[in-house]
Amino acid sequence: AGLLALGSLAACGSSDNGGSGGGGGGSSSSADVGVILPDATTSPRWEGQDRPNLQKAFQAAGLKADIQNAGGSTAKFGELCDTMINEGVKVIMITNLDSESGGACLKKAADAGVQSIDYDRLTLGGGASYYVSFDNVKVGELMGQGLQQCLTDMGKKSANIVYVDGAATDNNSALFKQGYAQALKPKLSSGDYHLVGDQSGNWDATTAGQVFDQMYTQNNGKIDGIISANDTMAGGIIARLKADGQAGKIPVTGQDAGTEGLQNILQGYQCGTVYKNTTLEAKAASDLAIDLIKGDKAAADKLATGKVEDTKLKKEIPSVLATPVWVTKDNAKQVVQDKQADASQVCKGAV
Ligand code: BGC
Repeated sequence: AGLLALGSLAACGSSDNGGSGGGGGGSSSSADVGVILPDATTSPRWEGQDRPNLQKAFQAAGLKADIQNAGGSTAKFGELCDTMINEGVKVIMITNLDSESGGACLKKAADAGVQSIDYDRLTLGGGASYYVSFDNVKVGELMGQGLQQCLTDMGKKSANIVYVDGAATDNNSALFKQGYAQALKPKLSSGDYHLVGDQSGNWDATTAGQVFDQMYTQNNGKIDGIISANDTMAGGIIARLKADGQAGKIPVTGQDAGTEGLQNILQGYQCGTVYKNTTLEAKAASDLAIDLIKGDKAAADKLATGKVEDTKLKKEIPSVLATPVWVTKDNAKQVVQDKQADASQVCKGAV
């Protein structure tokens, strides 16, 4: 079945590798834009997709960028922020580790006259000038609809389902949850589905696996469907399901369409993933940065056609929001065609 499913990738075995290319931190002196990415473990996207995509977008725009990664440490995050402001960047772009440390950085930037963009995660109370992300409620809706579809495809009309949510420190986790809760509401209200567990997996494979294990035990193994808010956590859950001989029998969702997620989908262990083409996000961020550096607020406002509420400031932040796509083994090929995944990598692990 694995091999058959791989056939749907079409590019397996060919040399059309897509791939996101190498890292390249960008020069650190006299950069126009400073970027702080959050970590390298909660999702392969930050180093595998966002860094190269941002690099490309800035390069194409003729902007010098200093792209750094805080490695999951708020202390390092603060140091990087200070260094960039001292370096004299004109725009700082952050993906926060939590709103408190992110907000401290944004405040320092504002005090130094440096403009700021929240990249992917909104910093609550941070007051960034702009927010660039995906429509994150929609991301969650796709997970909810996707899970329902997978259950329906398996002939399950009634189901016990659980939520393994993202980290509570990440505002996106709340938006994702809003989306899947909304999408599953009709089935939950009608009594077809029962929500029998809801806990954060903290964007961590091990934690997600443990959290799932507890739910599984508490429910005497009677779980039929799992919302996992990203692929990394899905990986941890699938490892537990494998140990129980249940992998592939209980649908699991995910997000990010990384190599591991795509492999799990092609092997039938994961029912789908929310694919977010970060090329779009990176390009939008770079376009905004250009306008901000030029001091052209009108142009920047024109790009920011959406808005997302900073629930702490009770204020709408002008936003550029890209559209996510639900990916199953039927359309996994798209990720490779968009060059956001490397076919040889995906196929290597999947065969
Ligand atoms: C991002 C996801 C990612 C998660 C963990 C979220 O804020 O939107 O794409 O999987 O963080 O890094």
